[in-house]
Amino acid sequence: MRARYRFAEWTLSADSDARFVGECLDCGERCVDTASADEAQGWCLKHAGLTGDRRFEMKGFQFFTAYMTNAAADGAPPAT
Ligand SMILES: [Zn+2]
Repeated sequence: MRARYRFAEWTLSADSDARFVGECLDCGERCVDTASADEAQGWCLKHAGLTGDRRFEMKGFQFFTAYMTNAAADGAPPAT
C-alpha cells in the first residue's frame, strides 16, 4: 500500500515575554503575574510574613503562536 503524506514546517513566535506567578500552596492565593521572577518571589515572602503560610510555588509561562513557514506543496523539492 502506498500513501503520500504532506509535511509542513512550523515555527513558534513568542507573543509575549515570560511572565511569573507566585502561588501559596497553603491557601491558594496568588499574585498578579509579573515580568520579574524576583517580584513574584517577593510576593511570596510578603505573604508568608502576613499569614504565616510557608509553602509556595512559582510558575512561569509565555504565549506563542505557531505559523506554517513551509507548506512543502505536493512534495516539491525545496529550492536551493
Ligand atoms: Zn497563603
